[in-house]
Amino acid sequence: MGKRLSIALALLATAGLVQASASPWAKIETATPGPPRVIGKVSYGCISGAEALPETGVGYVSIRRHRNRFYGHPETLKLVQGLGEELAKRRQDRKLMIGDLSQPRGGLMSSMHRSHQNGVDVDVWFTLTESVEHAKKLAPEGNDPPSMLQADKRLTSQHWGEDQLFLLKTAAENPQVERIFINPGIKLAVCASQGPDAPWLQKLRPWHGHDAHFHVRLKCPEGSPDCEQQAPLPPGSGCGAELASWFKPKPAVKPTKEAEKPPAKPVKPAPPPIPPQCRPVLAQGTDAKLAEQRADFLSTH
Ligand SMILES: [Zn+2]
Repeated sequence: MGKRLSIALALLATAGLVQASASPWAKIETATPGPPRVIGKVSYGCISGAEALPETGVGYVSIRRHRNRFYGHPETLKLVQGLGEELAKRRQDRKLMIGDLSQPRGGLMSSMHRSHQNGVDVDVWFTLTESVEHAKKLAPEGNDPPSMLQADKRLTSQHWGEDQLFLLKTAAENPQVERIFINPGIKLAVCASQGPDAPWLQKLRPWHGHDAHFHVRLKCPEGSPDCEQQAPLPPGSGCGAELASWFKPKPAVKPTKEAEKPPAKPVKPAPPPIPPQCRPVLAQGTDAKLAEQRADFLSTH
């Protein structure tokens, strides 16, 4: 990479960070009233009329509440509550740990996620807890619960078991669930144990990370005409060539002479940070200082 290009990219990355940390969505502490409406895409959207997930319920504990990312569409809350109830039927001594949903009005977060913007995403930790207090010890801020994978990317029996498989399958078989992101190593093991034709495996999408938690994404719920659904899932279980492609060694990069180098690709401009239908959602509120910051943000985007 040319020196000038790397400087330009570094500047862009810094600008991205500045933009994310300045996201006014992260400062909003309340949802807007009214019926729930999912707007835009998971990585470019917001939600009005979101509901807050209670800190605890049958079979689950919502963790890291200080982040204020426990809001979502009622269907997302229903999914969490349903999963908790299914776990509770199975065993009384353990509860799910629920991580981030969305901010009160969704939108861009200041850290961690690009998606989770419109109230249909939720992170569920594979590690189970005994109680709210126990969860605070298991997953304090900055210290994630353990990975389900060993160093060789195979499942570890120390942390992975029937409960984890049960949760993935129960979530995937929920008709409201559109897809679930998990680490390719986990998908490989699940494909091997379930057989490559099990229909629920189609929703398991391999992605980087996601070895200590799985990320559930719902379909666009009814009554949200501005919700933009992601491209449909590829056909089949995804246990074959697609999954194998994650494990192919990267081809060695041959050193090339300067003259042979292809021209640098143009840097893709970042999408504008707010869809038009989200502007009134962001603007609603009475706090004068915040309103000023929001007006500032809206006038530049
Ligand atoms: Zn997630």
